[in-house]
Amino acid sequence: HAKKQGRNGYRFFEHNMNTDVHLQMQLQQDLRQAIHRNELVLHYQPKLVAPDGPMTGLEALLRWQSPKHGWLTPDRFLPLAESSGLIVPIGNWVINEACRQMKAWYQQGHCDWSVAVNLSAVQLEHASLVEVVRTALAQHELAPSHLVLEITESTAMRDAEASLKVLNQLSALGVSISIDDFGTGYSSLLYLKRLPANELKIDRGFITELAQGNDDEAIIQAIIALGKTLGMKIVAEGVETPEQQELLTRLGCNTLQGYLLGKPAPADVLPGTTAQSSPDIELSPAFQ
Ligand code: C2E
Ligand code: MG
Ligand code: MG
Ligand code: MG
Repeated sequence: HAKKQGRNGYRFFEHNMNTDVHLQMQLQQDLRQAIHRNELVLHYQPKLVAPDGPMTGLEALLRWQSPKHGWLTPDRFLPLAESSGLIVPIGNWVINEACRQMKAWYQQGHCDWSVAVNLSAVQLEHASLVEVVRTALAQHELAPSHLVLEITESTAMRDAEASLKVLNQLSALGVSISIDDFGTGYSSLLYLKRLPANELKIDRGFITELAQGNDDEAIIQAIIALGKTLGMKIVAEGVETPEQQELLTRLGCNTLQGYLLGKPAPADVLPGTTAQSSPDIELSPAFQ
């Protein structure tokens, strides 16, 4: 009896594994086509000067609108894109599309906005990155000060010295470098000091339980002090409540991002643009 169950169990496991591998292969094949089929979309989330100040920039966040798999956020396909190397052509598309959109906003009069693009380690390690960024800016006749590149500490740390070299080249082009998800990685202060970074984004993990009377307030205070000492702009990500916003402002965090201030949304529903908002997107007050 036990043997029979074991065999069934094994077959069940094998079946699941096959379906999973099959699904992953299918996803990868479809992702390969996604660029040419125009299935990739960028949504944009504002960075606002707290509490009622202007929007200083927007972060481009990738979505895949797949006819077969539905509407996918990065957690569903980014790991696959990275392991397969597809993140390089996809990331190039993102850089180019974000620059195109930023140029359009600029021409609509939003001359003080910048657009932020997230980079994976695979992209940072790929020889073409600097040239891709340079070309995208040139093609859209966009000044480099309108582009921010967001990298996480762990992305930079995968090959710390090589990253530093590439980031210095990007910085020399005139684009800004932002350290994303700060506080979750393992970079040393010495390394942080050497990074040509202009902005530091406090990870959402520290913001979530803020205003509930725990250590997070002290940690955030320390991050803000550190960032300011290094001459960086401080951004808090994942701000969801007025209490968090109030406390962050009081602690001296000058720029905020989060659902409270604006959810990621397609470019054509942002303020100052002409198109109608689509009904399935929930707009925060910042967008209305
Ligand atoms: P991230 O760069 O740290 O972006 C913040 C993530 O938190 C986004 O998730 C955003 O939608 C979400 N978020 C923003 N505000 C709030 C909030 O108030 N509460 C909560 N719970 N979440 C909030 P998303 O769009 O799913 O992106 C996840 C990650 O995928 C990003 O984290 C970034 O690391 C990566 N990513 C996104 N787009 C790209 C891209 O074009 N290229 C690369 N290489 N990575 C990307
Ligand atoms: Mg980011
Ligand atoms: Mg982040
Ligand atoms: Mg993140």
